[in-house]
Amino acid sequence: MSEAENTKELKLLKDGKRLDGRDYDQLREIQMQLGVLKRPQGSAYLKWGGNKVIAAVYGPRELHPKFLQDPTGAVIRYTYNMAPFSVDDRKRPGPDRRSVEISKISAEALASVVQVTEYPNTVIDVFVEVLQADAGTRCAGLTCASLALADAGVPMKDLVASCAAGKIEGEIVLDLMKEEDNYGECDLPIAVLPNSEEIVLLQMDGHLTREEFTKALDLAKVGCMQIAKMQKKTLLEAVKGGEE
Ligand code: UDP
Repeated sequence: MSEAENTKELKLLKDGKRLDGRDYDQLREIQMQLGVLKRPQGSAYLKWGGNKVIAAVYGPRELHPKFLQDPTGAVIRYTYNMAPFSVDDRKRPGPDRRSVEISKISAEALASVVQVTEYPNTVIDVFVEVLQADAGTRCAGLTCASLALADAGVPMKDLVASCAAGKIEGEIVLDLMKEEDNYGECDLPIAVLPNSEEIVLLQMDGHLTREEFTKALDLAKVGCMQIAKMQKKTLLEAVKGGEE
């Protein structure tokens, strides 16, 4: 029997719990680490459920070719990449429509927090490598990139915390894992600036009623605020560690 046929039989919810035993409003387990690479100005590693993501920040550095430069501020260049071994079926190396889309929206989300005007004519390169994927990698990547930017000492007015909510078997749940993403009814990834609660990314794949949308959005926001707390704790611990 193929995986798809198998999964048709798969119940995503049982006795009020999800496949991995989580409650509807529960995030997967998350670990964050700063300064994991020596060459970039800043870096971070994020383990989020079955996702493993690394982010590296280079710059601000002069942008070439020069016609791409912006005299009013730094350009944020975000490169999201999935390693060929990050998914069950080997992912063809190199950019595709999906990675180009994720890179574009993530760059825009980060541009809303980075104080770009301090660095005219430069580029800040943010590389996000997905080493292992289990749904929610764009959220994990953005969350990790925000930490790497802070690790690089790039001035930011806020962090970016990202998380998805969605609908499975008619229920609104937080932080979909792969089976829920693939066989659920909707996925709603968002990114939030924790201080202002401004939403800087919102996508939706699937269908929700207006009420369900409001409920999912509220739940995803709560998730983002929990993520932001972990980001702040990670950054504070790094500062304290550096002082010792
Ligand atoms: N996925 C995959 N192959 C691909 C793209 C995605 O196996 O080429 C899986 C991977 O686990 C990914 C999940 O499908 O995390 C959901 O992908 P989606 O496009 O919804 O993005 P994400 O939720 O990772 O941001």
